[in-house]
Amino acid sequence: MKELDEKTLNTLVRELADTHPREILRTACQLFDGSLTLGFSGAEDVVLVEMAAEVCPSISIFILDTGRLHHITYQFLEEVRKKYQVTINVLSPDPEELANFIREKGFFSFYTDGHHECCRIRKVEPLRKYLHGFSAWVTGLRRDQNAATRQNIEIFEFDSTFSNGSGKLVKVNPLAFWTHDQVWAYIHERDIPFNELHSQGYLSIGCEPCTRPIKPGEHIRDGRWWWESHEHKECGIHFVQTPLPKNRKIDINKK
Ligand code: SF4
Repeated sequence: MKELDEKTLNTLVRELADTHPREILRTACQLFDGSLTLGFSGAEDVVLVEMAAEVCPSISIFILDTGRLHHITYQFLEEVRKKYQVTINVLSPDPEELANFIREKGFFSFYTDGHHECCRIRKVEPLRKYLHGFSAWVTGLRRDQNAATRQNIEIFEFDSTFSNGSGKLVKVNPLAFWTHDQVWAYIHERDIPFNELHSQGYLSIGCEPCTRPIKPGEHIRDGRWWWESHEHKECGIHFVQTPLPKNRKIDINKK
């Protein structure tokens, strides 16, 4: 496993800040060859799959299959898999933990006591186990996605949530400084496939019961966990949050 010290990481952040995401990905690939993985969520970060096919074909690609994704997302994943001839590693929740959770709380507990427990079981823990074997992982995070939680992300940073077996896990965010419009210009310019849900008003796409289309004037993240406040709108993968207080009344019809 390749380890990065703080000085090298800061140098990368400084020297590559204005570089095209493709070159950031290329650099990460050279640095962490064989120990780099890319999280593909089935939304706009398909641009990273396209770039990786060109500059980092050896990268491991994974998706978090929570079991609650929209069927259109699965169709899209299949389209991308075929188009770019990539192997997609599927991370699934621990079956026993999931079964116990559903037995105790049912299928929609996130509407009444917050999404963090469900996200922990279906996303955070499978990812924690998987990342243990890598030096670095690539995400599609951007600063413009959430002013409350993502405004300070850098193109290279040490992961504050997950770790690996031998040192500090590095998180690479090649799209950190791109805007929503830049991502979409790139998608159209390169004729990159995209999730059909985007055409139906879904801008940020996650699990089916926790994602809705947004209305004109709403923020991208207003379509995710719309019954919770902005500072809670992370699933625990990129930001550790305090769970919502128990017994909080939530109007689930307020779509
Ligand atoms: S997004 Fe919703 S359904 Fe998906 S893991 Fe989180 S709480 Fe569960």
